[in-house]
Amino acid sequence: MTRLLYLFSSAVALAVLASCTTLPVVASAGRDDAGRRWGLRGFKTIIIDAGHGGKDFGAPSKSTGQLEKTLTLDTAKRLRAELADSFHTILMRSDDSFVDLDERVARANRYDNAVLVSIHFNSGPRSLRGPETYFWRVDSHGLAVRLQRAMTRISPGPQANRGLVRRRLRLTRNPLIPCVLVEGGYLSNPAEAHLICDPAYRQGLARAIAAAIRTQAAIGDAGTGPLPPPLTSPPSRAGDRRK
Ligand SMILES: [Zn+2]
Repeated sequence: MTRLLYLFSSAVALAVLASCTTLPVVASAGRDDAGRRWGLRGFKTIIIDAGHGGKDFGAPSKSTGQLEKTLTLDTAKRLRAELADSFHTILMRSDDSFVDLDERVARANRYDNAVLVSIHFNSGPRSLRGPETYFWRVDSHGLAVRLQRAMTRISPGPQANRGLVRRRLRLTRNPLIPCVLVEGGYLSNPAEAHLICDPAYRQGLARAIAAAIRTQAAIGDAGTGPLPPPLTSPPSRAGDRRK
């Protein structure tokens, strides 16, 4: 490479780098390097995915005897009621039926200008508690931050925040629309399981999730911190991870 060509390529590289680092925080027309929208806002459709269902029970609560699949469906319906006045809402399942994860992805991909929120409850060591939020895509980060903040606000206890996790799951990597998976608390923690057992708490959770979605639709990523770097990885397959 001649020195002139080298200087020219360096300038181009710097210009590209500069344009990346000075991207406005709020935008809906921007695309990430995989061609997907980031700075997400203005979406009209919310796909609400109640985790598990049918033969897939999800996590059981030893303290209350409830099953994750029942609690996710109940919370999903509450969330739909909270959002129905201002969004087009789709329930991935509306009864106790089994829907394969790849089928959930295929259904989500029928919609444009939409986001997918998958609702789960967690399981782990007895001492763990608090909400947790999973995302993978760059354009899902702002919504994930808002959802985690909103759930943490209503969750009691000083340790009641498990934070954001960037993880390649079938419902965070494979849909062609922004998608976030929330864990609304630990069914394996007796105190939190009793909290989640209370319909009033699940209503509060649904209200908090709805508020986060509304804010994201209205102002995009403003105030949600720097975007994570784009990651290119193959679609998640059965057996990669749980969920
Ligand atoms: Zn689950």
